[in-house]
Amino acid sequence: MSQPSRPEAPRGEPTGRNVRPSRSRAAHAVRDLTPASQAGMRRRNLALVMQVVAAEETVSRAGVAARTGLTRATVSSLVEELLDARLLAERGPEALGRPGRPGSALVLSDVGPAGLGAEVGPDHMAVCVADLRGEVRVRIEEPVDNRGVAPEDVAARLAELLRRAAAEAGAADLWPHGVTVALPGLLRRQSARSATAPDAPDRPPLNGADGANGGASDGANGGATDANGERPVPDIPAAPTASSTSMDSTAPTDSLVVVEKAPNLGWTDVPFAVLLRAALGEALPGVRIGVENEANLSALAELWLGGRPWMRDFVHVSGEVGIGAGLVVGGRLFRGARGFAGELGHLSVRPRGERCGCGSRGCLERYAGEDAMLRAAGLDPAEVAHRHPGRGERIRLLASRAEAGEEATLAALARAGQALGVALAGAVNLVDPEAVVLGGAHAELSRWLLPAVEREMRRRVTARPWRAEWLSASVLGRDGALLGAANTAVRELLADPTSGTVTAARG
Ligand SMILES: [Zn+2]
Repeated sequence: MSQPSRPEAPRGEPTGRNVRPSRSRAAHAVRDLTPASQAGMRRRNLALVMQVVAAEETVSRAGVAARTGLTRATVSSLVEELLDARLLAERGPEALGRPGRPGSALVLSDVGPAGLGAEVGPDHMAVCVADLRGEVRVRIEEPVDNRGVAPEDVAARLAELLRRAAAEAGAADLWPHGVTVALPGLLRRQSARSATAPDAPDRPPLNGADGANGGASDGANGGATDANGERPVPDIPAAPTASSTSMDSTAPTDSLVVVEKAPNLGWTDVPFAVLLRAALGEALPGVRIGVENEANLSALAELWLGGRPWMRDFVHVSGEVGIGAGLVVGGRLFRGARGFAGELGHLSVRPRGERCGCGSRGCLERYAGEDAMLRAAGLDPAEVAHRHPGRGERIRLLASRAEAGEEATLAALARAGQALGVALAGAVNLVDPEAVVLGGAHAELSRWLLPAVEREMRRRVTARPWRAEWLSASVLGRDGALLGAANTAVRELLADPTSGTVTAARG
């Protein structure tokens, strides 16, 4: 318990999930050669059934058989297991929309295992519970100034919100399968030993064995261990249509992830999941706690819930106080070698421009971040925050001034859009995505930002003609990170339904 083990990927080996297996997966493979191999096969087939139901929304057993190529008898037995685990539910045949046809309709369950998500921002804290269909069933948000507050105190306050959310979920017959916390910071993998001992100063070098292997094995398996020990890794072929979304990157997990730097919270080297586990005390026993960068979760939310399931390669920009980007490549989150990919806010758009807190000059954040836009509009960010407390109020103020045609505000937004366009054109030239999505505060201001972004993109994306329809604002708005956090556990359940039955047995 106190010494969680984590499978290590051999160094220097490819670790993408669809390439060669890491050592941990090889270990599973060996296990699968034992009499347990049928169990492994069954686990995969259970996932396949879940993914078909998720993709079809309602489907009969015969439909599942047709979609998967499994025999009807096999499908029936798998379905029984999923119904018992409350991962699937049955509706009458009329739900299939074809009256007269025999057989009941299968749907994802709206009770049973669910995802618990949390978000800690500079000026707010939020938690939500999403059921297997991705629907938000519980949501609690509190305005709270977290800037400069001790991480232990933030963890204690968040633990209280999580307890409340879990209790409300319990009343609706939902139980949390996993918790993911969205944080505005750079995260790094930590060795198990130092992560469980927050005071220990032994920080591994970023490219040393711990950092590299932690990140690498995470890339290979989506992150699957926690403070409670090792959990098997989903290793299931994607279903024909649910494909991409189902298998994608769940968040890197738990205590092994450390917040290296969260400037907008004033944190350095914080093992937040460990603190949260301690603060939770007896609450949520056995539930995995994950921590993930908010921009990554916003991008995953866009992938999973953005209403464009065909979108496999895109850049998602999200910004409030800071600006971050999430890169989705081939339907998966691209994290980079150390998990720091997507720091668009510190991409320099004016090499001789304003000094940035990061030490560089002319960073995008200095022109298109919330504070920068307010300042350019002639407002004092701190004073505005005081006069308009509450998350998002400052952006609403900007929007209302723009709406009224206030010139300084319109100029500030045009300037922010221009800077965003320069940065995004660079990203587009580099990774050739099929779409660029503005999320968070930028989605709320998109009406005024998009024309300038668009102009720069058309001018600077040179490898191909840029088309306006490739640029859009997210419909998820400000809630992207929170939704991505809650749906992380949901996606894990779709990829490995047996992980849910373990929780169910505890619940
Ligand atoms: Zn910077």
